[in-house]
Amino acid sequence: MADPRPPREARPAAPFAPSGGDLVAGPAMRDKLAKLGIHARFDLVLHLPLRYEDETRLTPLAEAGTGEPVLVEAEVVESEVKYRPRRTLVVKCSDGRSELWLRFLNFYPSQVKQMAPGRRLRLFGEVRPGFFGAEMVHPKVRVVDEGAPLAASLTPVYPTTAGLSQANLRGFIEHALDTLLMDDTLEPELLARLALRGFRESVLMLHRPPPDVDGASLADRTHPAWRRLKFDELLAQQLAMRIAYRERRGRSAPRMPDRHALTNALVKSLPFPLTRAQKKAWATIAHDLGQAHPMRRLLQGDVGSGKTLVAALAALQAIENDWQVALMAPTEILAEQHYLKLEHWLAPLGVKVSWLAGSLKARAKKAAAEAIARGETQLAIGTHALFQGEVAFARLGLAIVDEQHRFGVAQRLALASKGGPESGPAGAEPHQLMMSATPIPRTLSMSYYADLDVSVIDELPPGRTPVVTKLVDESRREEVIRRIRESCAEGTQAYWVCPLIEERGSPSRWGDAENALQLKTALETFETLKATFPDLAVGLVHGRLKPEEKAKVMEDFKARRVQLLVATTVIEVGVDVPNATLMVIEHAERMGLAQLHQLRGRVGRGSQKSLAILLYHRPLSDLARERLRTIYESTDGFEIARRDLQLRGPGEYLGARQSGAPLLRFADLERDTDLIELARDVADAMISERSHAVERHLDRWLGHRQFYLKA
Ligand code: ADP
Ligand code: MG
Repeated sequence: MADPRPPREARPAAPFAPSGGDLVAGPAMRDKLAKLGIHARFDLVLHLPLRYEDETRLTPLAEAGTGEPVLVEAEVVESEVKYRPRRTLVVKCSDGRSELWLRFLNFYPSQVKQMAPGRRLRLFGEVRPGFFGAEMVHPKVRVVDEGAPLAASLTPVYPTTAGLSQANLRGFIEHALDTLLMDDTLEPELLARLALRGFRESVLMLHRPPPDVDGASLADRTHPAWRRLKFDELLAQQLAMRIAYRERRGRSAPRMPDRHALTNALVKSLPFPLTRAQKKAWATIAHDLGQAHPMRRLLQGDVGSGKTLVAALAALQAIENDWQVALMAPTEILAEQHYLKLEHWLAPLGVKVSWLAGSLKARAKKAAAEAIARGETQLAIGTHALFQGEVAFARLGLAIVDEQHRFGVAQRLALASKGGPESGPAGAEPHQLMMSATPIPRTLSMSYYADLDVSVIDELPPGRTPVVTKLVDESRREEVIRRIRESCAEGTQAYWVCPLIEERGSPSRWGDAENALQLKTALETFETLKATFPDLAVGLVHGRLKPEEKAKVMEDFKARRVQLLVATTVIEVGVDVPNATLMVIEHAERMGLAQLHQLRGRVGRGSQKSLAILLYHRPLSDLARERLRTIYESTDGFEIARRDLQLRGPGEYLGARQSGAPLLRFADLERDTDLIELARDVADAMISERSHAVERHLDRWLGHRQFYLKA
């Protein structure tokens, strides 16, 4: 059947004008549906119930008090509006053997009439023991004649929004189910092979389950009908992302083969050999950069695994080929650390490294931007300021993004569009290397990063002593103080990380955007610790310091002029001071697992024994207890990530990267692992065979949402 709607590109994203006249009353209703993600008529079919009410059978009153909502039938005996203690409509009913009291606190005069004595009522709700006997509070009421037929299927309850009643929504969905063609986008042979049910059959099962359905498997979404819908959803996600992946191979990028001049020189100048994992990741990237289509590679590796060095090698390969490189980090502190390290490694090789951040004085910024525009700067390091309007690269060949999950879609799009005027053939774009120290569980990366290539550095440089973690109740603060004194006396340094304070329930994710309360705590802690350790040099770093001030403190810490550094979570990522072997984290119970892991990774960077002390305050929530247990038991970033995913869902891992996130509503990345793998295989096969079903499947499932995938 021909799709009556115009092709996807031409169609406005939202709101849609549904055909089929009586379906939607007007723009107000359309807005409400849009809030539920319903923009096209097929979205109604895919708006699946949260749960069901069983109105397919009657329960005798005597058996109704089970705590479960049930349907009962009874006749009104008497009805009365009482005024004390509150205006209440009280209705006494009977089914001939038992009695039931109904109570309504808010009611209309029409309801009083509806429940006049002698009327036969069908009531749906929970029966509970009340003051007079068994009662129902605010049941769903319908007046019926004796022997009126019961519902033929369970009644679906849908996610809805204010001003859109279940009855209305149900009406729209029923209409869609009755009028839309719900043919299968998958071949029968494929369904048989994958042991999946038909699409139409599954949709009808979920919207209109028969009375004898296995309710438990519907509720926990393991029913075969749910499996089919989840599979389709995952398939749509995989199709969209794999298509994006293939499309990229058709675009052009500068070819930058490994010439081994600068890269070998760097390797030779290092006091240590590359780890096996670094070599492997580096070889893959070297190969990618030699291709004429843009690389989009995510380099994952646990905290301290040495990603920066791999990035430096990639940068040198681009520079050897006479292309410019940009390295972008989410905070100034981190960008600066990179600058110091890379300048140290690359300047001796004659590479021109420059620094650009939003906070530079206008004149310095202008000079930096000009050197970039002239092509003089070979490696530019900075924050997102690197990709703001005024900066134009002469020949950008490679963009490296550290902690990529902290950047938003808009920032990454800006970055992709920064190829300079000489970027080779028309439309050539820079290669991109993204780095993340937040390990992503395999299923999550298969799902959300299906449009990227992924390399993993799965080993730490040798000679590291694992960090020992201690959980300490804050009442034992004295011991902690003693610990710091001892360890600083031995010539090592320590961090004291101040609590992350949640405002309106959302932790501040960005070091530079900490809230006032957090700052206050940091200042107070700083004063207290200075008084406690009059003989130690105590420093303070937080997000509100001017960049020069921040740099000064960090430099002092690096040079051991500061022994104890009080810091807010701005040091969460990337800070690298191997002589710091002790970290105290206050209010650890408030922090997320990924954050604790990152923080703890700031110590244990040298060969000395390191210790992380997690101070916590009681009472602990179950979630906090679980998190502390996990961080105490494991130092393996992947294991921690897996636990975090179980505890909190995928949000933290995806961060600002939204492309894949809105695409999954039903599938569960922990529980539906097998389906993710199947969907990946089927998607690749469908795309290779240029199956016509690809377009239709995507249109059904993603429709207007496809634009998310462009980033
Ligand atoms: P991350 O992956 O967390 O960004 P870094 O790149 O900051 O890790 O590396 C952590 C530390 O390990 C740095 O001090 C770095 O110089 C050092 N390092 C990197 N690679 C090696 C190696 N192969 N052997 C020894 N030390 C290394
Ligand atoms: Mg790093």
